[in-house]
Amino acid sequence: MPERAYNWTNILFIASAHILALFSIVYLAAIQFSWASVALGFIWLAASSISITGGYHRLFSHPSYKAHLGLRLFYLCFGAAGAQNSALKWSIDHRIHHKETDTDNDPYNIERGFWWAHILWIFYKDEREPDLSLARDLTLDPWVMWQDKYYLHLAIVVGAVIPFGLGSLWGDPWGALLIAGFLRLILQWHATFSVNSFTHLVGSRPFSIDGSARDSFWTAFITLGEGYHNFHHKFQVDYRNGIRWYHFDPTKWFVWSLSKIGLTSDLKRTTRERIERARAQVRVLRAQAPARSQNSS
Ligand SMILES: [Zn+2]
Ligand SMILES: [Zn+2]
Repeated sequence: MPERAYNWTNILFIASAHILALFSIVYLAAIQFSWASVALGFIWLAASSISITGGYHRLFSHPSYKAHLGLRLFYLCFGAAGAQNSALKWSIDHRIHHKETDTDNDPYNIERGFWWAHILWIFYKDEREPDLSLARDLTLDPWVMWQDKYYLHLAIVVGAVIPFGLGSLWGDPWGALLIAGFLRLILQWHATFSVNSFTHLVGSRPFSIDGSARDSFWTAFITLGEGYHNFHHKFQVDYRNGIRWYHFDPTKWFVWSLSKIGLTSDLKRTTRERIERARAQVRVLRAQAPARSQNSS
């Protein structure tokens, strides 16, 4: 794969955000501690995380359910605060990831190593124009295109200006900006990045041994359920990632709960038969190739 030029905007922004997140801990410990700012940080973390998992991923990238316009706007605004690109471009990258998993075309190809899949891929420019043919459905959604056009404005307003403004209500605007803006952002980034790195390296493969995607409770725990990644790669349009009721998948519970009040609908589920057939197939393949199965747990 030809070496790509550094993306200095991304490198400097990511480095600065990490420094500010570390400073926010110093700020809390030594300068000013406000429970209101900490609570705001948790609320912003929950809102922007669910907007990436339930919105960018399970709604826009894989239309696995339908959502009311109010919910879509919520996802688009708080998803921008997650500073992971617009929903349109994120979805195009993600659809390529599914189509070309473990190849050079996969934007976060795990074959290039843990750190590449986790964060280094963002440090390089991708000279290719986003392939809109992979997201015709999204280009027809005027709100997705609106968010794509104003992504940077939204990211700054929802990710920084609003926390700063809210913090000024309780006399801690800088603390609110640091905690709900930067500390929240770093925690959220590394959680999302873990799906591309850890869950393509560590965990079990009960549904498919074709690719590197694995099921990992720990990644599910920090990503609102996205860690059941082996299941997800096999059955991408299922709105669930953890299929058992006890699987830790808050995104699934959120989408399901909202269906009860009409904010989501048409939740797609894979039939039990298809799931069992996939499991059986994996068992047969392992029995045929015991040496291979030792590496695939
Ligand atoms: Zn996916
Ligand atoms: Zn994946």
